[in-house]
Amino acid sequence: MSCTIYAGYRNLNTKALLSLTTSVAADFDYAEGVLGKSLTSFKIGGPVALVAWPKSRVALISLLRAALVCGERCDVVGACTNLLIDDSGYDGLLIVTSKMRGCSINGTIFTAECGLPVEYAAIAARDAALSGLEFFYGIPGTIGGAVTMNAGAYSSEVSCVLISSEAYNCETGEIEKLSLPEHNFGYRMSVYRMAPRRVVLSASFSLSRGDRDTISAYMNELKKQRWEKQPLEYPSAGSVFKRYPGYFTAKLIEEAGLKGVRVGGAQVSEKHAGFIINTGDATAADVRALIAIITEKIRADRGIELERELIYL
Ligand SMILES: Cc1cc2nc3c(=O)[nH]c(=O)nc-3n(C[C@H](O)[C@H](O)[C@H](O)COP(=O)(O)OP(=O)(O)OC[C@H]3O[C@@H](n4cnc5c(N)ncnc54)[C@H](O)[C@@H]3O)c2cc1C
Repeated sequence: MSCTIYAGYRNLNTKALLSLTTSVAADFDYAEGVLGKSLTSFKIGGPVALVAWPKSRVALISLLRAALVCGERCDVVGACTNLLIDDSGYDGLLIVTSKMRGCSINGTIFTAECGLPVEYAAIAARDAALSGLEFFYGIPGTIGGAVTMNAGAYSSEVSCVLISSEAYNCETGEIEKLSLPEHNFGYRMSVYRMAPRRVVLSASFSLSRGDRDTISAYMNELKKQRWEKQPLEYPSAGSVFKRYPGYFTAKLIEEAGLKGVRVGGAQVSEKHAGFIINTGDATAADVRALIAIITEKIRADRGIELERELIYL
C-alpha cells in the first residue's frame, strides 16, 4: 500500500510504544503521520499519529497491549471502507489488519484471518466449488470488518454462514472462541461493536458444495448489478445509513429531493442516493454536514430517524 506521510502530526510516544513490542518487531510494519485519506475508501482524513500493519496475531496482540500500557488511543481496522477519519486526524495507534490474510479450507469449512479481503474469500470458496460466500463479491472490506459489521448484500449476510470466530478480549487479555449465538448479530451489528472490546482474529464459515460455474456466474451477476446501481467510480464508504425497517433508505433520500445535493466536495450520489461520494476534495466536515442535512430533512418530512452505518473514527 502506498501512503502519504504528513509531518504535522502529534508526537505520540512512538518509541516507548514500539519498545514494548520488541520481541515481535520484525512482525509488523509501521509509519507515523499517515494521512487518513490514503487509508480510507472515502479518500478523506487527516494524519494518523501511528499506523501499524501486524503480520501475525502475536504482533497484533502485542501492539494492542503496548497501546494499553502506554495509555494511547488505539483502534483495529481492516480495509477502512466503512470509516470516516476526521480532518484533524487520529491521535493514537491505528492497527490495520490488511497483512493478516491467511485462509484454509477443511471440507466445507472455510477459515480466514481477519485481514483477508472478503472478495478473496469469495474467490477462494468459488475455486473450491463451495457456495455461500458469493454475496461477499463486490464488498470491499476484510473478514474482521465484515464480522464486526455483520456485512451483507443480496439477501445474505455474515450471520447466515458464520459458525464461529476467534477473538482477542482486550479486557481479559484472553483469546476466546465465539459460537454463532455469542455474536449477538443484528442488522450491521455484532458483539464486536459492544463492550467488552474484542478484536476479530479469524472466522470460520460453513459452506455447501456447489457447481463452480454456477457460483462464478452468480458472483459475476452480483458484481454487474453493483456497477449498474452504485457510484463505484467515486470514492465512498458505501451506504451511509442503515436500512430503516420497511423502507429503502436511498428511496427515502431520493423522495426528499436530496439526490445530487452537495456540501463542498461531498455529494449525495445521483446514481444511488444512499451513497455520499467524494467528488475530489471532500473533507470529513463536508460529509458530516451533508449527513446532518439528510437526517434533518428525512426527520422533518417523514418523521423517520435515520441511523448512520458509517463509523466516525
Ligand atoms: C463501494 C462500497 C460498497 C459497499 N457495499 C457494502 C455492502 O453491500 N454490504 C455491507 O454490509 N457493507 C458494504 N460496504 C461497507 C463496508 O465495506 C463493510 O461494512 C465492510 O464489512 C467493512 O470492512 P472493513 O474491513 O473495511 O472495516 P473497516 O471500515 O476498516 O472497519 C469497520 C468497523 O469494524 C471494526 N473492525 C475492523 N476489523 C476489525 C477486527 N479485526 N476486529 C474488531 N473490529 C474490527 C473497525 O474498528 C470499525 O469499527 C460497502 C463499502 C463500499 C465503499
